[in-house]
Amino acid sequence: MDLEELLANARRNEALLRRLQAFELQLLSCQTWFDLLTLLLDGLPAQFELDAVTLKVCDPDGELKASMLQSLDLEQAVLLNQLDFQGRVPMISAGPVAPPPPWRTGLALPLLRNDVYLGQLRLYSRHADRFQSGMATDFMQHLAAVVAACLFMVKQTEETARQALTDPLTGAENRRGFERAYQREWARGQRQYHVFAMVLFDLDHFKQVNDVHGHVTGDRVLKTLCRSLKGIMRPTDHIGRLGGEEFALLLPGCQPDQLPAVAARVTECIRAMEVVNDVGKRVPVTASGSYLCLTPHPQQQLELSRIVEHMDTYLYQAKNNGRDQFICAEQ
Ligand code: GH3
Ligand code: MG
Ligand code: MG
Repeated sequence: MDLEELLANARRNEALLRRLQAFELQLLSCQTWFDLLTLLLDGLPAQFELDAVTLKVCDPDGELKASMLQSLDLEQAVLLNQLDFQGRVPMISAGPVAPPPPWRTGLALPLLRNDVYLGQLRLYSRHADRFQSGMATDFMQHLAAVVAACLFMVKQTEETARQALTDPLTGAENRRGFERAYQREWARGQRQYHVFAMVLFDLDHFKQVNDVHGHVTGDRVLKTLCRSLKGIMRPTDHIGRLGGEEFALLLPGCQPDQLPAVAARVTECIRAMEVVNDVGKRVPVTASGSYLCLTPHPQQQLELSRIVEHMDTYLYQAKNNGRDQFICAEQ
């Protein structure tokens, strides 16, 4: 290799190093799974002329996948198609790998953080000379170490964020969490002309449950309620605890003609709950509520508090009608 070639090589390496450093700074500023996965799966190919990037993730207890599913909304979750979650991912050293067609070359990089093996990052190119055996991979291994650290950090950041949006007693979303879900659903409805439904309810004579059976039993009722409802709801539905024993459900895609039957199922699910007090006696529980279908209009903003206020008047009507019933809140 003559001097010119050496210099050209050095310049190319320096340029690559600068781009990698800039990319690593972007990685380190990611706070959410959406940011990190978008940057890795879309940003990395775009910024480094790659044709595809995939991620094999060691996820023996399913924690990472669960964390991602909780944080990504319905549309964002398509990112997970480029991820491969496995109990064990074979340990590798950095180096070229055979790519899936139509790509011609690939590079696999181990994701290691403090000697913990988190999986592999794989980069693919349609150019036959892009990744060759014997090539230096130290820059790319540095990138992979940063990716591994970011996977770990984002998982923790997401967990902290999730806790801030979750009611610790019942595992339902708290008011802030539910508000966020509502705003996302409203925005999605505006983009895609999607309808969604809301159900608002309050447990009947719950003060009496506490007075007769004690607070611990009252808490047990609230926990069983959320667990039972999650059992009959879709994974994309939301349950929020808006107050002590007042809850709201947000049901994406639930059509107006399905909603009365859904509300009836919720009423029945609450009635059928098996909760016992401290001496093993069954505690009957009912709720009163209202339900409403929403079609977001592109130009319109409607605050959750206004909807809840509107639905509340129907909820009180249900209470006045003798409780243990859900009624339709007029638009
Ligand atoms: P109504 O049918 O009219 O709704 O009657 P109610 O007794 O349910 O209504 P009220 O609002 O008077 O009582 C709500 C009760 O819920 C009072 C409060 O002590 C209880 N509560 C609120 N949060 C919790 C909680 O976290 N745990 C327990 N055990 N009870 C709670
Ligand atoms: Mg009540
Ligand atoms: Mg109440």
